[in-house]
Amino acid sequence: MKITEHITAAKGKTLFSFEILPPLKGQNIQSIFDGIDPLMEFNPPFIDVTYHREEYVYIEQPNGFLEKKVVRKRPGTVGICAAIQNKYGIDAVPHILCGGFTKEDTENFLIDLDFLGIHNVMALRGDAVKSETYFKPELKGNNFASDLVNQISEINRGQYLDNPLEKNHTTDFCVGVAGYPEKHMEAPSLDNDIEKLKAKVAAGAEYVVTQMFFDNSKFFEFVAKCRKSGITVPIIPGLKPIATKKQLTNIPHRFHLNLPEELIRAINNCKTDLEVREVGVEWCTAQSKELINSGVEVLHYYSMGKSTNIHKIAASVF
Ligand SMILES: Cc1cc2nc3c(=O)[nH]c(=O)nc-3n(C[C@H](O)[C@H](O)[C@H](O)COP(=O)(O)OP(=O)(O)OC[C@H]3O[C@@H](n4cnc5c(N)ncnc54)[C@H](O)[C@@H]3O)c2cc1C
Repeated sequence: MKITEHITAAKGKTLFSFEILPPLKGQNIQSIFDGIDPLMEFNPPFIDVTYHREEYVYIEQPNGFLEKKVVRKRPGTVGICAAIQNKYGIDAVPHILCGGFTKEDTENFLIDLDFLGIHNVMALRGDAVKSETYFKPELKGNNFASDLVNQISEINRGQYLDNPLEKNHTTDFCVGVAGYPEKHMEAPSLDNDIEKLKAKVAAGAEYVVTQMFFDNSKFFEFVAKCRKSGITVPIIPGLKPIATKKQLTNIPHRFHLNLPEELIRAINNCKTDLEVREVGVEWCTAQSKELINSGVEVLHYYSMGKSTNIHKIAASVF
């Protein structure tokens, strides 16, 4: 089923979903199932699987020169999605990026998904590769997520890059895109970022999942601004419970967002990471309850493969 169909079928009841990331190369898929199994009791209608593009590492040679090596530390997004659909019979949503993909790579990726019976995708631009400051699209690749959504919409209409047949197979991908309640780090303003979000919806995106946030008022203000700008599709809040003291600086640095003073104080008062996890769970539970009361269609958790915290939250919320 499409994500939008799950939302319609829920008839106003808030759904539970979460995102996982592929294991590091060299590990097996059991760690993925171990992370999913405990959360199945909350009936997730879909699970997102992130995509991790290549990274460049530079290895010093005996002659002193640096050899550039391209590595993918977390491959396996499509295989994990197929395995999830096969094992649990629930929809898996692979993330797909502009970065590292030519339009032809994208087309082939989508053909694989279609043949595997995976009909939901989350379309993202992706970040710059770690050794570079700015995002660079592939030659003959998509520049922005809106271009990628456009390509997916074209395939949905049976328009392939080289239109191989007189009458091509039409796909039926339901496309999600990212939204940023505290604006994307490169956007000159929140209003400008929302205009770009609107372009993604105009290109065919049927729902939005937000970046994590720790202050619900930021989400409510964002949704109000989106609605005012004419975006009518579901906006699904993305939530993450803080789990370590280090995240007080890591999360703002990585995602360019603010943490509320009250949460910072509570975490700073903790003596151990176990206490931090308790504070994180409590905070995220309170956020979840308020969001459900406000009528959100889905609560989407960034589990990062660690289900214990999410289980505690879901157990008191769903
Ligand atoms: C829910 C969610 C899931 C994610 N999953 C992954 C993942 O699996 N793998 C991964 O690598 N990353 C993931 N990311 C991170 C994401 O790839 C980065 O945040 C990336 O920097 C932006 O992606 P985007 O799709 O929002 O880009 P875009 O929507 O293309 O926006 C990127 C920037 O460009 C601006 N912009 C957009 N269109 C235009 C235009 N036409 N002209 C000028 N400026 C424009 C926007 O305002 C924004 O500042 C995820 C993020 C979220 C919120």
